[in-house]
Amino acid sequence: MTLSELTAEMEAFSEKAFRAKQCYEWMHKRLACGFSEMTNLSKDFREKCGNNYEYVIAETVDVQESKADGTKKYLFRFLDGIMVESVWMRYKHGNSVCISSQAGCRMGCQFCASTLDGLTRNLTPSEMLEQVYAITRLTNERVSNVVVMGMGEPLDNYDSLLRFIRLLTNENGLHISQRNITVSTCGLVPEIYRLAEEKLQITLALSLHAATDEKRRRIMPIANRYSIKELMEACGCYFEKTGRRITFEYSLMDGVNDTKEDAEQLILLAKPFGCHVNLIPVNPVRERHFVRSDVEKIEAFKNKLEKNKINVTIRREMGRDIDGACGQLRRRHI
Ligand code: SAH
Repeated sequence: MTLSELTAEMEAFSEKAFRAKQCYEWMHKRLACGFSEMTNLSKDFREKCGNNYEYVIAETVDVQESKADGTKKYLFRFLDGIMVESVWMRYKHGNSVCISSQAGCRMGCQFCASTLDGLTRNLTPSEMLEQVYAITRLTNERVSNVVVMGMGEPLDNYDSLLRFIRLLTNENGLHISQRNITVSTCGLVPEIYRLAEEKLQITLALSLHAATDEKRRRIMPIANRYSIKELMEACGCYFEKTGRRITFEYSLMDGVNDTKEDAEQLILLAKPFGCHVNLIPVNPVRERHFVRSDVEKIEAFKNKLEKNKINVTIRREMGRDIDGACGQLRRRHI
């Protein structure tokens, strides 16, 4: 609940309005683990809350820490037993957390481990927040950036995603800047239009991975529903309405999408609205056959884009030694 919703709830509960503010701060600023910790509230009130509401807490099932760069990958379990992955990364500019938006995924991208067993269920806004809160408690360090790039398709869980963003950026909570939030999508066109209207300053990342419909359809089923032309129109609208440049994510797979022609087609798409292209050497997933492009091919691809004045980076790989890619740690546990 937002603070105003919580205030209305407390009133209906015959409680004073300031209780809502106290409660909200315990949950979203002090990151309490339950009502019993809210010691400036009466015992009666805490008991009443405990009897009436479910307090969402993530149980830590597993943690892996990268020896290479300190990246930590958490496997969390929620009340009904579903498990999701979240990742903590330390950068010069601050700590970044990558959260999941669904348990599983129904988008079916060929190279991704999160989708192998389909979708179990959507996460609630509380469960998305709790991934950030739990990691803050566990590391005892402030989180400054949040990327919704873990398991699931965030725009397939739209209303919960929006509520999550509003609570995460609220001044009575962790107050994370909207500009420090990135939402990654495989390209749900109607939801991109909807998001453009929300007046948010978040970064939108589009998982493109191929620059022609024919190629994209081979690796991403969503490409059968929306053409690249439709996608680019939606991205153009997002850029126009928000002024925020879109990032294209492009996983390089050997022999699939890494030729000179692929780069040329990608340039045509990225140019019109000054997109940033983030190249990701594909992470091999055991159940899949994709192989990453070799270093020379990746460099050549990047150089081609740079020569054409496209802003391009190769994703710095963190935590490769700890089941880094989407959904792999969870699968191992299941
Ligand atoms: N569903 C959203 C967000 C989740 S995945 C989306 O599709 O954008 C975050 C990014 O990792 C996406 O760009 C996704 O395509 C990419 N990804 C998934 N599996 C990968 C793998 N094995 N190697 C490299 N990138 C991968």
